[in-house]
Amino acid sequence: MLETGVRRRLLQLANVRLRERCDVVAPIFDRERGRVTGVRVKARGDAKDADVIEADLVVDASGRGSQSPVWLAALGYARPREETVKVGIGYMTRLFRRQPAELHGKTAAIIAACEPDWRFGAILAQEGDRWTVSLGGYLGDQVPGDESGYLEFARSLPTPEIYDVIASAEPLSPIIPYQFGANLRRHYEELAQFPEGYLVYGDAMCSFNPVYGQGMTTACVESLALRDCLAAGPRQLAKRFFRAASRLIDIPWQIAVGSDLQHPRVEGKRPAQVRFVNWYIANLFRAAQHDTTLAASFLEVANLMRQPSALLDPRIALRVWRGNRAPASAVKERRSLAAAAK
Ligand SMILES: Cc1cc2nc3c(=O)[nH]c(=O)nc-3n(C[C@H](O)[C@H](O)[C@H](O)COP(=O)(O)OP(=O)(O)OC[C@H]3O[C@@H](n4cnc5c(N)ncnc54)[C@H](O)[C@@H]3O)c2cc1C
Repeated sequence: MLETGVRRRLLQLANVRLRERCDVVAPIFDRERGRVTGVRVKARGDAKDADVIEADLVVDASGRGSQSPVWLAALGYARPREETVKVGIGYMTRLFRRQPAELHGKTAAIIAACEPDWRFGAILAQEGDRWTVSLGGYLGDQVPGDESGYLEFARSLPTPEIYDVIASAEPLSPIIPYQFGANLRRHYEELAQFPEGYLVYGDAMCSFNPVYGQGMTTACVESLALRDCLAAGPRQLAKRFFRAASRLIDIPWQIAVGSDLQHPRVEGKRPAQVRFVNWYIANLFRAAQHDTTLAASFLEVANLMRQPSALLDPRIALRVWRGNRAPASAVKERRSLAAAAK
C-alpha cells in the first residue's frame, strides 16, 4: 500500500518520467571533462542496441547489487572501501488472515533476537485484514519452510505472541524465503577523486541488516541531504553529498552493526562502548515488553526520528532500571520488545 502510494505521488510530478523494464547498462563518461553525461539503457527483451539518456546528474539508486564500484574502476577511479559484517540472516515470511481481537487488539509485535539462540520474529498488521509474519535466525539457523516446522520455530521464540496468533490463524500465502548475507557499507566519502555529475545513494551506498528496518528511512534522509546539497550549487557536489550522507549513515550503521555484534558468533570488533550500549539495550528491551514508552522511544531512535542519546535520558534510564527489578526468572523468560502501534 505504501509503495503504491509513493509511486502514485511520484508519477504525479510533472518532471518525472518512468521507463519500465529497462536496465542501465553503464554510465556514459566524458573523459576530457571528467564527468558523467548520461547513461546507456537497454529495454528488456529488446534486441535493439542500447539507448542513451543524457543527464546533468546521474544517481545510482540500483540497490545493494550496485555496479558503481566496477564502473568506477573501469573508468580509472579507485573503488570505495567496503565494510561488511556477516550475519547470514534467513527469513521466512507468510501472510495470515487477521482478526482484530488477536494480539490483544494490538497491530504489531517485534521479538528481537537475543540469547540463547538469537531467533527473532515480527507480526505486523497489513491492509486487507492480514498479518504479515516474518521469522528468522542468524548464521545458518534456517526457519523451516514447511507448515509444522514454521509453527515449531514460532513456538521456540522467547515469548509466545506470534505463536499464539499463527497457531490458529488461516494462512493466506505460501511460506516465502529471503536470505541476507551481510551488512555492507561502501565508503564513497573517502574517495579523493570522483566523476562529476554522478552520485550513489540508498542501498547502493549502504545496506543494513533488514531486521532493524532502517534502509528506507536512511534513503529518505539521504534524499533530504541531496536536496540541500543541490540547493547550494553544483560545486564539489559528490564530496559534499557523500560527506553528509556518511554522517547520516553513521547512526543507523552503529545501531545495526552494534546490535548484530551482540551475537557471539558475528565477527567484528567490540569496543567497550559497543559492549556498554548492547548491555543497556538488552535491558531496555526487557523492560520495554511491559512499557510502551520505552518501546516507542527505541523505535523512534531506530527510525531516525530521535538521536540515540535520547535513550540515555535519565527518565528513560530510570524506566529501564525499574523494568529490570522483576525477579530474575521472570526477566529471563520474557526477553522481547513488544511494540504496540496505536
Ligand atoms: C526483508 C526486508 C525487510 C526490510 N524492511 C525494512 C523496513 O521495515 N524499513 C526500512 O526502512 N527498510 C527496510 N528494508 C530495507 C529497504 O527495503 C531498502 O533499504 C530500500 O529498499 C533501499 O532502497 P533503494 O532504492 O536504495 O534500493 P532498492 O529498493 O534495492 O531498489 C533498487 C532498484 O534498482 C533496480 N535496478 C538494479 N539494477 C538496475 C539496473 N542496472 N538498471 C535499472 N534498474 C536497476 C532494482 O530492480 C530495484 O528496483 C528491508 C529490506 C528487506 C530485504
